Amino acid sequence: MYKCVNCGKEVEVNLNRVRKIQCPHCGYRILRKMRPKLTKMVEAV
Ligand SMILES: [Zn+2]
Repeated sequence: MYKCVNCGKEVEVNLNRVRKIQCPHCGYRILRKMRPKLTKMVEAV
């Protein structure tokens, strides 16, 4: 999942299909990779 720097919309990029990474909403080419919302589990020893 990527986020467009210009319009801020979430963009799903399939790198296998699409060679050019581009925002489908505004056409901007700079997308930011979003951090996955994963909670880090820290196990106390
Ligand atoms: Zn955009």
